[in-house]
Amino acid sequence: MNTRQRYWNPFLETLPREKLAALQLKKFRRILEWTYRHSSFHRALYDQARIRPEDIRSLEDVQRVPAVEKSMMVDAQRKDPYPYGDLLCVSLDEVTAFRQTSGTTGLPVYQADTWQDWEWWSECWAFILWAQGYRPGDRVFIPFGYNIFVAFWAGHYAAEKIGCEVVPGGVLDTKARILKIQELKATAMMGTPTYILGMAETARTQLNIDPAALTISKITCAGEPGASIFSTKKRLEDAWGAKVYDHAGATEIGAWSFECQHRPGHMHVNEAFFLAEIIDPQTGRLIEEPGRKGKLVITALDRIGQPCVRFDSKDLIEWAPEPCPCGRTFRLIRGGVLGRVDDITKVKGVLLSPTAIEDVVRSVQGLGDEFEVVVDKKGETDRITLKVELSEDSRDRRQSIEDRLQEQLRLKTNLGYRLEFHPYGSLPRYEVKAKRFKDLRKK
Ligand SMILES: [Zn+2]
Repeated sequence: MNTRQRYWNPFLETLPREKLAALQLKKFRRILEWTYRHSSFHRALYDQARIRPEDIRSLEDVQRVPAVEKSMMVDAQRKDPYPYGDLLCVSLDEVTAFRQTSGTTGLPVYQADTWQDWEWWSECWAFILWAQGYRPGDRVFIPFGYNIFVAFWAGHYAAEKIGCEVVPGGVLDTKARILKIQELKATAMMGTPTYILGMAETARTQLNIDPAALTISKITCAGEPGASIFSTKKRLEDAWGAKVYDHAGATEIGAWSFECQHRPGHMHVNEAFFLAEIIDPQTGRLIEEPGRKGKLVITALDRIGQPCVRFDSKDLIEWAPEPCPCGRTFRLIRGGVLGRVDDITKVKGVLLSPTAIEDVVRSVQGLGDEFEVVVDKKGETDRITLKVELSEDSRDRRQSIEDRLQEQLRLKTNLGYRLEFHPYGSLPRYEVKAKRFKDLRKK
């Protein structure tokens, strides 16, 4: 491996668009045929839609294949073989890894992977890490509790695969992790934006260590949209004195996207391994043009154990207008994952986006990193309460901070808020995914 080469896979990452489309079509037909033959769940779904794998002759035909929702997977998993149900396309003997979704929006999905799938996972992550500047010689610290959630497992293996040295931060607590980073002079790490921000706070307040003075030069974030939100990225980069990159993936899908070094705030879709479609949630039509938001429906083109064919991810994304200056032909999505289709609720008739609120809160100086949004009803009227923390040294500037926050919120989200100021450090801290948004109207 030439460590100076720009791409992990120069052939695939610069494949002309028409060849990429041909590759996607070929692979899509192959995975459709595979699921039709080996999974009664998929076969029943396609038979019901009166579609056979050989009917797919162009990428436009892909639209005819029914999308799979998470609830359908949960139902299918009540059948045999236990615990994966008839989603499984291989025998149980071939399954080598169990993971599950966090189940934040209902029952968890159990995910089976074969050894080939597991190699595929780390190959996908190798594209990500190489694009973000990871090279042999990097010492990568992974501050995450290795467990049933897939999180950074594949990032660990990919870092080893490309020749980095990996330090598994496993069950160490946050302070021990920071001290280990300091002792070993680790150069890179991976984590959720929430946890990485919390780590910086712990370093400063409990260990009297300035995280920016440590040797971390790059951080890969995943699990939440934060690293693609401009003000959150800036807070992370300032705190650690490091470059911060985003990645989005999911247990049922795989590691489908990554930010490169050339277009901050945008992410490439790994189109050699995934077919991403943006679908208008209202009309169900495909969105090809840049700048229009829709939900991601995605196919993992090479995953065989428990495949992902036209999975309705409910992630809200939009295509970016221009190709990336890095030279990759993989398309970019603008602003990363913009939220969940389910989260984008209407308040007083206006669409409310939690990522827009995060961007405002993190851009106001004097506020802590944590916040919480609660939507409820007062009489017949929707009400949004935003809870924020005031940092210790800003208490005497509270009124001006409040004015600025209210003004920016109105400007960026077109809504008015009831603001609650809480003492610094009193809102909940999250180790994995933060739960900052509560809609009490649904109860
Ligand atoms: Zn790029």
